[in-house]
Amino acid sequence: MNPEIEKLVRPHVLTLKPYSSARDEYKGKEGVFLDANENPFGSVSGGSYNRYPDPYQRELKSKIADLKGVKEEQIFIGNGSDEIIDLLYRSFCEPEVDSVMTFPPTFGMYEASAGINQVEVLNVPLTASYQLDLEGIKARLSDDVKIIFICSPNNPTANLIDRSLIEEVLEISTGLVVVDEAYGDFAPEASSLDLLEKYPRLLVLQTFSKAWGMANLRLGMGFAHPDVVAMLNKVKMPYNVNGLSQKMAVEALSRVELRDQMVEKLVEERDYLKAELEKQDLVEHIYPSDANFLLVKFDQADKRYKELIEKQVVVRNRSRVLLCDDCLRITVGTRKENEELLKSLSSLS
Ligand SMILES: *Cc1c(COP(=O)(O)O)cnc(C)c1O
Repeated sequence: MNPEIEKLVRPHVLTLKPYSSARDEYKGKEGVFLDANENPFGSVSGGSYNRYPDPYQRELKSKIADLKGVKEEQIFIGNGSDEIIDLLYRSFCEPEVDSVMTFPPTFGMYEASAGINQVEVLNVPLTASYQLDLEGIKARLSDDVKIIFICSPNNPTANLIDRSLIEEVLEISTGLVVVDEAYGDFAPEASSLDLLEKYPRLLVLQTFSKAWGMANLRLGMGFAHPDVVAMLNKVKMPYNVNGLSQKMAVEALSRVELRDQMVEKLVEERDYLKAELEKQDLVEHIYPSDANFLLVKFDQADKRYKELIEKQVVVRNRSRVLLCDDCLRITVGTRKENEELLKSLSSLS
């Protein structure tokens, strides 16, 4: 096992013998399957869901490996990225002993999951330009910091974190560095995937929930050193990703052009929405976006948020979040939805 990784894993996880499910032992597809106490007649729901799914999602991983140019052993699939975040805590952080580092304002799940797992969070705020504060990070890093969460493009600020800063964090830290690229399909050239070979402590998170349009199916991807993937495999539930989701993801991977078309359209819509919002009196500033949403500073965000809700237009109020005073986060919708939003805003005074 890679010594840098071995030092990070919780001692009991290192020695854990994984649960062996009925389907772990026989890998063939043909046979008489009397091993898992399934119903051989079929599914009451209709469809064919009577057999347990592949616990390691082999077909899906082989397709993802081709698309991303990584090895199958470097891929972990979770029930959403949310599950992967939780599994990282459970595999690497000793409750009430270890800590993690986050860079607010950022995605709330890192802190929520820390709370559930009784792990302390060290917060090092982003700079005024929403980049990593290297001096602040250096001042608080120690070997107890087991996971460092970098979100790029960052939610809710919408910007990419400079790659040179991400590499710098990898150089100066000893913990696992998670780069959450949930919005990476909107800025693919900036991905950190190519750094995996150089840094065994890097884990890149991606998801089918945003650009792929499959949020309902709950599919997150973690790309990491095979030893990190092996630890997550030990801790996960045997059948964490259901068969229908696996099947739909395999289908989606044969239609990458459709994702790319949607991304292109969303980026066009984002630029249109930005240009139109800039004309509105209530809007004070729109931050640059590398994602499918805009962080928008209003004259009075709370008031505008409530007024929009009354018109059944729902955006995300981020005005009480650090460095986001009076900001609303607005997802880019269809042209019709964006026009509804703009119409509602122009009716306010
Ligand atoms: C939306 C989002 C995710 C996706 O989570 P899933 O559980 O895969 O749906 C992950 N990270 C960030 C920062 C997000 O905004």
